[in-house]
Amino acid sequence: MSEEHINVKVRTLTPIWTGGIEGSCDRLHETSIIGSMRWWYEAICSGFGYACDPSSIGRCELSGKEKDMKERMAKLCPSCALFGCGGFSRQFNLQINDAPTTPLHFRTSIPINKNWLKQTFGGENKNIDSLNIFYGDIILKIIAKKENAKFLRSQLLMLLCFLSKYGAFGAKIQHGFGQFLLLDPELALSNEIIRDGLKQLSHRIDEGQFFQKQDIPSSQYNLKNFIYMEYDLETSSLAVFMKKGNHLGAESKIDEVRYLPCSFDLRYKAFKGGKSFGMRSWLEDTKNWDHDSVNKLMGVSKKKGEPQNDEDRSSSSINFSMPYRVNEGSYRLRIFGFAPPDALTADDLTNLAKEYMHYAFGKICNPKFVISGKEILESLGGANND
Ligand SMILES: [Zn+2]
Repeated sequence: MSEEHINVKVRTLTPIWTGGIEGSCDRLHETSIIGSMRWWYEAICSGFGYACDPSSIGRCELSGKEKDMKERMAKLCPSCALFGCGGFSRQFNLQINDAPTTPLHFRTSIPINKNWLKQTFGGENKNIDSLNIFYGDIILKIIAKKENAKFLRSQLLMLLCFLSKYGAFGAKIQHGFGQFLLLDPELALSNEIIRDGLKQLSHRIDEGQFFQKQDIPSSQYNLKNFIYMEYDLETSSLAVFMKKGNHLGAESKIDEVRYLPCSFDLRYKAFKGGKSFGMRSWLEDTKNWDHDSVNKLMGVSKKKGEPQNDEDRSSSSINFSMPYRVNEGSYRLRIFGFAPPDALTADDLTNLAKEYMHYAFGKICNPKFVISGKEILESLGGANND
């Protein structure tokens, strides 16, 4: 057999959205998971100076006349070498069988947000009550090609560990979907696996094994601009999102406390104890940012005060996970994103997010863990030497 099978057990911390017919989430679409993996891998490769032009004209392409794998690799950027392009197939396949589902619901403290959510997720009839999303334990069955197997394995495991620790799976991550945990004890050593995968990537790049395109404009979605932070919030500080009246969607989820789907409020606008918060409204009303600067950071909205229409991963520079319960007394909130380099640095974005969190949850609210993409790259320490 010229294949290698890698099974990875995944536990969702917040539901996964993968899109489907007319935007509904009818079944778990592997292509959506693979698409998100590719998007993140491109951002990681950009951190090493490697980007692929995402337009169909500019993508790497093989003629079919290449003699062997080495010649093929020399014509491909690292991302196309893994995920495929014209003339070169994806080096792995992904299957997910029997993914458990749960009804879709949201928590929001502002009535107008309910309308936006119904419109965004419910389609024409604005009804989300019968929609299901994926939540529970799933097994990712990865079937990788045997050729180059060691490198392939290192990259796929690095990517899964990276996403589980710092990113998300699937679509609509700006609504807090797609947070997950890897259950295999082997993968619990995720720092090592991430480090090893990145080192192998950097090593191959240094050896000139991949094709480097010239004149690709540097993208915002570059590991160097990446930030990640983690907060543990007291359950009481999220009480507003547990009020029955602030529930939207299937009745059966009214008592759901394992995760609180309130990312829209945290990112856009929320109301608690006579005070409004939400990062977009805080930037506009308290920080007095102009409309264009707010749009650059939070995604484009038509006019002031409207949430952005967010179709793709790249519409917002900063994402709030749904807070998920870590124990009786607290919820974990993850904040992550890519600083737009023409507007602010990664450090600026981290500080801005901290300031916002102080505003929203009080001065004693401090991150439990903070890391930047730059630090991740630097931690490879002399990555070019070993
Ligand atoms: Zn490419």
